[in-house]
Amino acid sequence: MSRQQKIHISTESFICVNCGRTVIPLDSGGKNRNHCPHCLHSSHEDITPGDRRSPCKALMKPIGIWVKEDGEWCIIHRCERCGILRTNRIASDDNEGSLLKIALAPVSALPFPLEVLSCKVI
Ligand SMILES: [Zn+2]
Ligand SMILES: [Zn+2]
Repeated sequence: MSRQQKIHISTESFICVNCGRTVIPLDSGGKNRNHCPHCLHSSHEDITPGDRRSPCKALMKPIGIWVKEDGEWCIIHRCERCGILRTNRIASDDNEGSLLKIALAPVSALPFPLEVLSCKVI
């Protein structure tokens, strides 16, 4: 499967170029899907959100979770080609395991030994 192929983001079903699974449109309609609910990858489609005018079209990897002040989760996506960062709201059928894996990734790869924390407790 070519990495150059884009994820077709629309109201139609599409095959995710990252995990190869079929993605069906959201039941709720309205909002178009902007990432795969299984592996949470997206593609670099927009210059400003929703315009579909980016010439890049490369795969965007989910690299982190942003918890907004109201508690809503957003996925931080990073384009594998140009490195741009984007945030996208999670969808109701996003895979919870995949979301947790992204959220816990920094904790499972700490850049300092865990003992440092106990030393700093006053
Ligand atoms: Zn996928
Ligand atoms: Zn890009």
